[in-house]
Amino acid sequence: MSSSFVRGLKCRLCGQAYPISATNFCTEDFGPLEVDYDYEAIADSINRAKIELRPFNMWRYQEFLPLDGEPTVGRQVGGTPLIKADRLARELGVEQLWIKNDAVNFPTLSFKDRVVAVALSKARELGLTTVGCASTGNLANSVAANAAAVGLESYILVPADLERSKILGTSVYGAKVIGIKGTYDEVNRLCTQIAFKYGWGFVNINLRPFYAEGSKTFGFEMAEQLGWRAPQHVVCPMAGGSLIGKIHKAFYELHRTGLLADKPECKFYGAQATGCNPISAAVKNGWDAHRPVRRPHTIAKSLAIGDPADGYFAAKVIRETGGWAEDASDAEIAEAMALLGRTEGIFAETAGGVTVAVARKLIEQGRLPRHEEIVLCITGNGLKTQDAVADCLEEPVVIAPSLEEFSGLLTEESSTVLV
Ligand SMILES: *Cc1c(COP(=O)(O)O)cnc(C)c1O
Ligand SMILES: [Zn+2]
Repeated sequence: MSSSFVRGLKCRLCGQAYPISATNFCTEDFGPLEVDYDYEAIADSINRAKIELRPFNMWRYQEFLPLDGEPTVGRQVGGTPLIKADRLARELGVEQLWIKNDAVNFPTLSFKDRVVAVALSKARELGLTTVGCASTGNLANSVAANAAAVGLESYILVPADLERSKILGTSVYGAKVIGIKGTYDEVNRLCTQIAFKYGWGFVNINLRPFYAEGSKTFGFEMAEQLGWRAPQHVVCPMAGGSLIGKIHKAFYELHRTGLLADKPECKFYGAQATGCNPISAAVKNGWDAHRPVRRPHTIAKSLAIGDPADGYFAAKVIRETGGWAEDASDAEIAEAMALLGRTEGIFAETAGGVTVAVARKLIEQGRLPRHEEIVLCITGNGLKTQDAVADCLEEPVVIAPSLEEFSGLLTEESSTVLV
């Protein structure tokens, strides 16, 4: 099944067309490039029944992805659960709540495996043998693992103050990990220079148009799992601001090709940490473009991008769909991680805490209606950011191996409850 559906690349600002290559910006206006498809041809070639017969992973929507041939990297990625979150719904005071859970995405437990599978498969089609990324953590894990699995050499550049578990979870795959004394935006700038000088494929820089398309599969799955329809409200964490726009694009594409009967009327809500909130600040203040945050400071390191590449487009999607954006403090993030754990049995990373905390705020503000259907995007796994939640959990009680002491403990507990 080769994808003859790609027309080329197209500038998101001026519409100028470019042939497929490892490039990400328009030479006229420096606007970002995106993949341009022939939707009529896609509509003619697939239908729901055909998709439903395929294995439940991200490649069942292959016609909407920019590869010439079969994927060669990350062939098992995607196919994560959509969960009806009734216990969390009761806590938050809403009626219909769902969680799309990419904390269990294969192989590196975040939604980044989706974007990397596409970017690295494309890198190989383009004949590249060395790849890399600028990362806030999850992308590092994913590029390193997926590159290792097919024998690509990888260079991973991260801010030097990243969580230790995310650095170990990159080095273990044999990647060359380089800590940069600076912010993510400084790391990103350096990677742009390296990609240009050495001709390597940096997944979120010169391969970005292909990378970004992988995020759509999070939205395709969500719609199919809801019974081929879009939800009314989606709350999504934002770092570079790409995922939120791609879920929106996914619903649009499914409708355009006849896979969704009804026109999607989903409102999009962006979630950020207060310590790095360029996009939510832009939405709340009515700014057209975001203002970069120079020194991000938050426990949600995976979202700490001060100058987001797709910030403008994320704010636009939020505005145009009638959604909103909010941000949450570190304390609110940690508390929301614990809330998600004790209500739904899901241990999400700090980004998940951001999403749940922001959803709670938006519900309290009356921006998310209590009786309508809401999907929360959980994008990464809590085992990678354990320290973040440590302070708001109780230490285990330690007793002797004695039934008497255990019973004493229970009595103590019940009397505390009575007080
Ligand atoms: C990268 C990332 C995001 C946001 O992705 P963007 O597309 O850059 O906005 C959200 N959650 C987690 C866990 C991430 O690693
Ligand atoms: Zn342009």
